[in-house]
Amino acid sequence: MKINQNHFNLIENYLFSEVADKVKKYSEKNPDKKVIKLGIGDVTLPLCKVVVEEMKKAADEMSHKNTFKGYGPEEGYLFLREKVQDYYNKKNVTLSTDEIFINDGAKCDIGNILELFSQDNYVLIPDPVYPAYVDCNVMDGRKIKYINATKANDFLPLPARENQADIIYLCSPNNPTGAVYNHKQLQAWVDFALANEAIILFDAAYEAFIGDKNLPSSIFEVENARKCAVEFCSLSKTAGFTGIRCGYTIIPQDLIYESKNLNKMWKRRLAAKFNGVSYIVQRGAGAVFSEDGQKQIQENIQYYKNNAQIISRALDKLNIYYTGGINSPYIWMKCPDGMTSWDFFDYLLQRANVVGTPGSGFGKNGEGFFRLTAFGDRENMIEAAERIAKL
Ligand code: PLP
Repeated sequence: MKINQNHFNLIENYLFSEVADKVKKYSEKNPDKKVIKLGIGDVTLPLCKVVVEEMKKAADEMSHKNTFKGYGPEEGYLFLREKVQDYYNKKNVTLSTDEIFINDGAKCDIGNILELFSQDNYVLIPDPVYPAYVDCNVMDGRKIKYINATKANDFLPLPARENQADIIYLCSPNNPTGAVYNHKQLQAWVDFALANEAIILFDAAYEAFIGDKNLPSSIFEVENARKCAVEFCSLSKTAGFTGIRCGYTIIPQDLIYESKNLNKMWKRRLAAKFNGVSYIVQRGAGAVFSEDGQKQIQENIQYYKNNAQIISRALDKLNIYYTGGINSPYIWMKCPDGMTSWDFFDYLLQRANVVGTPGSGFGKNGEGFFRLTAFGDRENMIEAAERIAKL
């Protein structure tokens, strides 16, 4: 038996363990100090009422013989796919229900989709970015090219000749930079992918944070994207589903490569490997798309966005460069005075007792930057902003 040697090309990511370790040591040495954590990428507000009520009802259905549900369709129940279809209709994006696949969170499908593609493909990944894209491709042994996201391009890189690749990852709103592509920029990527017969894997996990009506919250708002893009979406940050696990993957019927239909390939792959997301969870997800559900999740999203605004205002006053924070829960700030990401981490922890995430953990272009998240309590946000300003 031979093992997959590509696993040994994975780089150990010590980012979050090192952050936790440094915070633990500091707190042990300084038990009287209140440390405020703005480093977490997990939500903190509980599930919305309508979601919980719907899941309770679904759990009850499971206790009666005539309403009990066993295996469901692997692509997800039609009632939920119709709700997602409706959600896209409101963005003026027309999808058929067989183009919508209910997933157990975006992360799994971002990795799983690669099973449809040969390992002999070049992959283009922005730097810095959510680390899963790199890891999934390293494990498969694919060749990776990077495209630089820097202050010079507002952390929104655009394609050029040297970026030719077969598989292109885009993440908008971006983790960690919070930057969001506009229509024209996404159109440039779509045109580039079509010209190069490439595919775009579009991660829209934070689309619900886009408040600016002029910005696209789906790549399918862009002309011809149906011919070259797959979109991954998640209810994790949208509706607090990080522990519940549900999202959706959009694979248009127009994705034809080497005369093969990717939608059909994916459906066949699901039949082989997946038995669908739990009925109870899908009922809860359905409630997210109801009128009440949309109102309730928007209240939570607004709470996080107001948190982000508290930090952004403090940085504005200090004249510190940052991206994000408006249509995203992440603020990506430049470390002051040319500090490295880790130097600034230590400085902020020791002098202000505030914790963030060093940007260098998201790629080489993250060096000298720092990620703050808005997923915390209001009082802590206000206090953290005051401490940063004072420091
Ligand atoms: N995509 C991005 C950009 C993320 O930041 C995350 C989670 O932090 C995910 C996907 C994963 O989301 P899920 O919880 O739906 O797997």
